[in-house]
Amino acid sequence: MSNSSATQNSTFDSATGSAPASVPAASAEQVASLTEAERSVRDLVASISDGELAPIAERLDRNEEFAAGVFQKLGAAGLMGIVIPEEYGGAGASFLSAVLVMEELARNCGGTALSFGAHAFIGAYNIYKAASEEQRRRFLPDLCSGKKLAAWALTEPGNGSDAMNLQTRAVKKGDRYILNGSKTFITNGSVADTIMVMARTGPADSAHKGISAFIVERGFPGFSSGQPMEKMGMRASPTTELFFEDCEVPEENLLGAEGQGGYLALQGLDMERTLFSGLPIGLIQGALNIALKYTSERSQFGKKIGGFQLVQAMVADISMQLYICRLLAYDAARKLEAGQNVTLGASYSKLYASESCVKATLDAIQLLGGYGYIREYGVERLMRDAKLIEIGGGTSQIQRLIIAREVYKQAGLDLR
Ligand SMILES: Cc1cc2nc3c(=O)[nH]c(=O)nc-3n(C[C@H](O)[C@H](O)[C@H](O)COP(=O)(O)OP(=O)(O)OC[C@H]3O[C@@H](n4cnc5c(N)ncnc54)[C@H](O)[C@@H]3O)c2cc1C
Repeated sequence: MSNSSATQNSTFDSATGSAPASVPAASAEQVASLTEAERSVRDLVASISDGELAPIAERLDRNEEFAAGVFQKLGAAGLMGIVIPEEYGGAGASFLSAVLVMEELARNCGGTALSFGAHAFIGAYNIYKAASEEQRRRFLPDLCSGKKLAAWALTEPGNGSDAMNLQTRAVKKGDRYILNGSKTFITNGSVADTIMVMARTGPADSAHKGISAFIVERGFPGFSSGQPMEKMGMRASPTTELFFEDCEVPEENLLGAEGQGGYLALQGLDMERTLFSGLPIGLIQGALNIALKYTSERSQFGKKIGGFQLVQAMVADISMQLYICRLLAYDAARKLEAGQNVTLGASYSKLYASESCVKATLDAIQLLGGYGYIREYGVERLMRDAKLIEIGGGTSQIQRLIIAREVYKQAGLDLR
């Protein structure tokens, strides 16, 4: 594919991020013993990712295009409801399988992985957790088949890290709620049909800050979404504002009890941080694959650059960080599966993976020298995608606050 001549006589193909068989890439098996089912999910997604996503990933990024065809393929393969029980149309797979899906998508396109996670985890799975039996049967089958896409809307122009300080209001009138306000930075906001929206129904000093959760469906009177915001990375994932102007939501679309939405939103964060850790892991794996192949083909001073010890040091660091990221993410995913509290583990995993990912993708650019800075080689896209992970789902600063709070708590120390 290359017009450039970085590696004479080479077959270098940055489009897939896949290492050829002769290059041993770090793998999930090096870290955890995967079940047969987890391996099958991983291999299925890998084939869709390499076959359908890799060839178009550069175009998606350049044109800020949503990979609608890939989502159809994921739906047909039964993956859009990966962690939702089979009785509602989901795959009933383990949380570790979900991490692996994120890895395999992100290895080729971070934006597609982000939109997948917004649909399958913070969208569909949060709805599953909060919904009544009737709501589960009404909403989940279409979300699991991919016929409809989901989104999750908490952030507003005036509240991000201070998530519970939201201003969107919902007032009960007869058999419906009337929503007024706006949301911002909502992943899938322009393509989702079924959106879990947090709005205030009670005073801020009541339990869980008086916040309730609703399912807003596209087409409801008074609901609209903005144009996708132009972004530095994750450009295959549409990020939009949402507007509620006397938006009418039937009372049967209230999730849980009135005033329970703050709790439902916070409860989903540990799951989000654990499963989304697969995204930076996939980006690191993609960067490592490209760097391994390039440094084993490029020669300078009459020698393969992979033979220089300073180059090897960077490869060693990326590989070690990838291994540690997997240890943290897989450990949190297994504990989540077992119903254990993972607040600390999820924040360890999210924080370490996001910061490692930014460093690893920058190092991978360095390993390719000038070619790393050229779009055609694909590694700069991974770096632009990587930066979002330090911001979305709770910034690195917020993760450190959570970790410190948990550490003091576990030590039985009171800082008040
Ligand atoms: C591409 C993208 C997709 C997103 N998708 C979604 C989505 O689907 N749904 C959704 O609801 N939201 C989404 N978000 C929003 C995201 O979760 C927020 O951007 C994030 O939580 C940070 O909030 P903020 O941008 O308002 O930054 P702020 O909260 O204003 O933070 C600005 C800076 O101040 C720091 N800071 C804030 N408070 C503290 C503190 N107490 N101590 C130390 N430092 C602090 C932060 O760490 C940061 O460095 C998305 C954002 C982006 C960019």
